[in-house]
Amino acid sequence: MAKAVIIGAGIGGIATAVRLALKGYKVTVLEANDTFGGKMQEFWLGKYRFDAGPSLFTLPHLVDELFEAAGRNPQDHFTYSRLNPITHYFWPDGSHVKAYAEPAAFAAEVNQELGVPKNAVLQALEKSKRLYTGTADTFLQKSLHRLDTYLSPDVLKALGCLSDLGLTTTMHQANAKQFSDPRFVQLLDRFATYNGSDPYQAPGTLNIIPHLEHNLGAFYPEGGIYAIAASLVKLAEELGVIFKYNECVTQILTEGKQVTGVATSAGKYKADVVVSNMDVVPTYRKLLPQHTAPEKTLQQPRSSSALIFYWGIRRSFPQLHVHNIFFSQDYKAEFEHIFKYKTVSPDPTVYINITSKADLADAPANAENWFVMVNVPHNQGQDWPELTRATRQAVLQKLSAMLQTDVEALIEEEQLLDPLLIESRTSSFGGALYGSSSNNRMAAFLRHPNFSSKLTGLYFCGGSVHPGGGIPLCLLSAKIVAGLVPAIVSRSTHNVK
Ligand code: FAD
Repeated sequence: MAKAVIIGAGIGGIATAVRLALKGYKVTVLEANDTFGGKMQEFWLGKYRFDAGPSLFTLPHLVDELFEAAGRNPQDHFTYSRLNPITHYFWPDGSHVKAYAEPAAFAAEVNQELGVPKNAVLQALEKSKRLYTGTADTFLQKSLHRLDTYLSPDVLKALGCLSDLGLTTTMHQANAKQFSDPRFVQLLDRFATYNGSDPYQAPGTLNIIPHLEHNLGAFYPEGGIYAIAASLVKLAEELGVIFKYNECVTQILTEGKQVTGVATSAGKYKADVVVSNMDVVPTYRKLLPQHTAPEKTLQQPRSSSALIFYWGIRRSFPQLHVHNIFFSQDYKAEFEHIFKYKTVSPDPTVYINITSKADLADAPANAENWFVMVNVPHNQGQDWPELTRATRQAVLQKLSAMLQTDVEALIEEEQLLDPLLIESRTSSFGGALYGSSSNNRMAAFLRHPNFSSKLTGLYFCGGSVHPGGGIPLCLLSAKIVAGLVPAIVSRSTHNVK
């Protein structure tokens, strides 16, 4: 039976394990940590439950289709509900907008609160949909590094959108051209942060992202985001995948140009196929030091990272929802702090995720579990203890003013996540959340491919390679890898129910 070894049990590695097991491979996942999930962890602080990493979940059908591919009814294993409103936005001038799930209701709210014409909002969402539908099949569902991708009819569809794609403008320029209200422009620009980029540098192409949230919807999985990883690991195990924890891969083994397996602290594993779910930079630097690394790819600027304060708050705030944004006064200056000066803005935009709004069991009665996040640069040796201290103070000051209450006095549990911890816990280079940033128009093509062009049998999945970071794209990377890995000639019989 052909063997596949997957390095890392992040969401991309888990999804790849499911897909390769279904392809007939005997799959072993080797994970350095003592559990699965990578950035997707959960933990309790006293009586408060927290999802440690990702909080926003879109394109849930990408999880469903893994269960369906295995012949299962997804609803028997993984359930989720649509959020409405999706996000509650607050501006320093006191205005606020509830982003309702229905585009018409969202447009009506934006019109009422910000005075932006309803039709203009709906037209922007329609355009976002058109661009996504025209380009996703080529740019997100296929390898960009294979000739057959460019011979597919989907490319014609993508070419049809070229003039609309905004490749020659930045995301901010495109939004500011369309809307005169700076608050609504800020709301639209914020979608650049969904892959850790800067709206003042990233191409207008990123304006496809609002379609995912505003037309297709944002969802909350029963049991929290962690349930995505947990349910897929269960599925993988039922398909025969073996997960080995506390087993750090130290080398990818090769003979000539063929990958033959991996070495770990505990021994050697032979494999016909090796898939790295580890960040691509340490994959080359640590596991393949004897091979030439694709330097141009590895040198691409990293995405942003995050400072997260997990706070158990002993009060409930009826004006808050699952996702909440408290905008900065000067968005341009905020991104300059992150990407130009490599530091944290003294007036950062603050995101608060409160899962106890969706699941009361996540916090005690009349209390809330606040995941308070600020975008920051990836680690380049900054003084993180000092930046954390200053940012915590700025965040408390801002929230206390905007919510008109002394927030610090309400904190009864507290924990912190910073770029250094993200890097040490998941090997993500510099603690970047999404691999490389999309701050230039060639970024999509400069991400590492899902396969090695130098070593046969070596593949890559996860947030640091094509098509990019975030749960949906990691799931798509697994799908692309499974399409590239050779089919097994004498198929094994899997007991797929
Ligand atoms: P990772 O999660 O990076 O895991 C890689 C795994 O490989 C780790 O478990 C690591 O221990 C293991 N590993 C590394 N080296 C080795 C080795 N040598 N041997 C064995 N194992 C190894 N995405 C969204 O979609 N929505 C969000 O709202 C969102 N918010 C985020 C907020 C935060 C704070 C963070 C950190 C991320 C967020 N993301 C979000 C991004 C999302 O979490 C990631 O893109 C995704 O989880 C990355 O998955 P991955 O498959 O690349 O693996």
